[in-house]
Amino acid sequence: MSEKYKFFAEVNKNFDRAAVHTKHPKGLLEQIKICNSVYKMTFPLRKDDGTIETIHAWRAEHSHHKLPTKGGIRYAIQVNEDEVTALAALMTYKCAVVDVPFGGAKGGIRINRNDYSVSEIERITRRYTYELVKKNFIGPGVDVPAPDYGTGEQEMSWIVDTYNVMTNDINGEGCVTGKPVAQGGINGRKEATGLGVFYGTRECCDDVEDMKYLGLTRGIEGKRTIVQGLGNVGYHTAKFFMEGGAIITGIAEFEGGIYNPKGLDVDKVVAHRVETGSILNYPGAQNVPNSKELLTYDCDILVPAALENQLTEENAPKIKAKIIVEAANGPTSAAAHEIIKNRGALIIPDAYVNAGGVTVSYFEWLKNLSHVRFGRIEKRHEERSYLKLVKAIEEMSNKAFSLDRIKDLSLGADEKELVYSGLEETMTVAYNDINLLRKQFNVDLRTASFITAINKIAIIYEQKGIFP
Ligand code: NAD
Repeated sequence: MSEKYKFFAEVNKNFDRAAVHTKHPKGLLEQIKICNSVYKMTFPLRKDDGTIETIHAWRAEHSHHKLPTKGGIRYAIQVNEDEVTALAALMTYKCAVVDVPFGGAKGGIRINRNDYSVSEIERITRRYTYELVKKNFIGPGVDVPAPDYGTGEQEMSWIVDTYNVMTNDINGEGCVTGKPVAQGGINGRKEATGLGVFYGTRECCDDVEDMKYLGLTRGIEGKRTIVQGLGNVGYHTAKFFMEGGAIITGIAEFEGGIYNPKGLDVDKVVAHRVETGSILNYPGAQNVPNSKELLTYDCDILVPAALENQLTEENAPKIKAKIIVEAANGPTSAAAHEIIKNRGALIIPDAYVNAGGVTVSYFEWLKNLSHVRFGRIEKRHEERSYLKLVKAIEEMSNKAFSLDRIKDLSLGADEKELVYSGLEETMTVAYNDINLLRKQFNVDLRTASFITAINKIAIIYEQKGIFP
């Protein structure tokens, strides 16, 4: 990553572009934009071979206008204060866009996780959590981390365990989200970001006017899609796109890219990677040794789902995709955004489209605070009510339904169905909101997302007043 790249400044450029369309006082805009607190920590790790290494880690809480603050924890070698702060700011705006009642935060540990054993990663994660607890940077009403790049259910499980060992908090399970279901997690969280990306893109592709302008047909079906990154977000996005009828023509990973205009089967590509250690040489596909080059291939939809700063001033003029779906955080630099926009392509911004993860994290947190699984109380009651209705219809129509049909008609929703339904509603409503603003102000979707976020946060400050 370029030394000159300043991620937080890039986020703030988007903020400034939107702020001119609002009427809030300068001081209030400054308060919304600034990062409230950053905790930089270093601690020693005793490695398996007995040597000691210093670990550098951060947690940034960008905005406390709503509590708790919320945002993932990233394990990657390029983690630094600027990156964590920028990602925390994006979380603030993202939560506001999809009406998730949290402030924004983000954490990161500067490690390449492949250089460490599982027990070393466990020690790093537990020590990081210990540091957060000691400095009051974690807790169900304080700051609630989640998975991000390089972390997943396992790390969240160590975090909740460490937190619970160190505190007597009856709501302790709500100190982190993205946990395994057996440890207070929620069904549907793992795939939530990818599913949200799918719902968001589907909404966009449903807009007849926009599709006509882009020279595309309505709907996600048949859209030639290239995905960068086959991790949690990229894999699930590609899978939901494929199931929705899109054709995954290209996949880019660390080791290179693969391309097949007839389509790639995502699960088979993953199986091939597990077997061979690489996505390259996937049967029937063309290898693209420089994976970044694949981003410039002809396609309808391009989904960067790896890291920030992937579409830059240098490669943006070569990008041919008509729709860019920012599944990753900050994949498009401000300069690249302008180039792509001026070419007439549509960018569905990160501050909206990858909000599925935090939305379902919100559901998980609600579940943890209420200490009850969604659907547990009402499912059987609902099923009996539906059954009564089915019986009444049978009596009125003098026709009997088959047992299978009755079962289908009277089925109550389980936790996963409720989560999917809540996520679909959230992504749909939010898209329509930002799309409306976009047309009203004649701006792009990113600026519209920031306008709505700034307005929602400003109202809270105005209503609460500023503490003297
Ligand atoms: P992950 O670690 O599960 O997967 C990332 C993948 O990208 C890995 O397979 C990695 O090998 C690949 N990758 C890294 N650099 C690459 C490159 N230059 N070219 C091609 N592939 C590359 O991480 P994730 O959780 O899927 O997160 C990906 C992005 O999505 C990040 O920007 C993250 O902040 C964002 N995001 C994640 C979530 C979530 O719920 N996990 C939510 C919102 C946003």
